[in-house]
Amino acid sequence: MIKRTCYMCGQPKTSVEHVPPRCLFPQTKDLPKGVNLRKQLITVPSCDLHNSQKSKDDEYLLYTLLLNIPNNQTAENHFFKKALRGIERNSSLIEGITKMNMPVTAVDNVTGEVHRTIAVKIDEKRLHSSLQSIGYALYYHHFGKPWSGTVQAYPHFLIHLTEPDARDLNAPNERMQQCTELLMEQCERFGDNPEVFCYQLAEGNDSVDMIMYLRIYEGSRATLMFKNG
Ligand SMILES: [Zn+2]
Repeated sequence: MIKRTCYMCGQPKTSVEHVPPRCLFPQTKDLPKGVNLRKQLITVPSCDLHNSQKSKDDEYLLYTLLLNIPNNQTAENHFFKKALRGIERNSSLIEGITKMNMPVTAVDNVTGEVHRTIAVKIDEKRLHSSLQSIGYALYYHHFGKPWSGTVQAYPHFLIHLTEPDARDLNAPNERMQQCTELLMEQCERFGDNPEVFCYQLAEGNDSVDMIMYLRIYEGSRATLMFKNG
């Protein structure tokens, strides 16, 4: 089936959009010989409006993700190769991301390792909008029609570090991540480059219609809640 209408609004398509953004996937020239992390990238048709809205936030999403502690080696290599080139080109972006930073100690809640790092103030609205777009686009890709309800994004990799009550503030997010992990345990993982990205789907309950779980660079995870009306 050739899809001719925008994944968001149903207007005629004018371009094709990668989901998640292609900049997350390292190029072959930056990888060891024979390694390809751009196998069968997912694309959706898009109109001009939704294409430009989404691409504005793509690079921001990349840098936000690359600054996370629990990512895998792919993310680390990607940061030093591609991302540092991007920083030279676009130094205002990285300044914007790291301006509000302070040294802290963080505990990796998967391995229990303690890291000295910097806490970075994230533009949450921008990050949420980027993850929501990914949700709408993946829904279209998976089911072949736009999602007409709402998508709520819960990025589990965003944690409070500097507030005195950080532990309490992080608790609901941690609980939700544990529940989603349990729910998704037996669910199929979709995506041909799982080192970079994969997603899972589960049916919802009374209050949520569908739940999607994103794993980016394995360690950066987010729950998306799809609700009707
Ligand atoms: Zn559109």
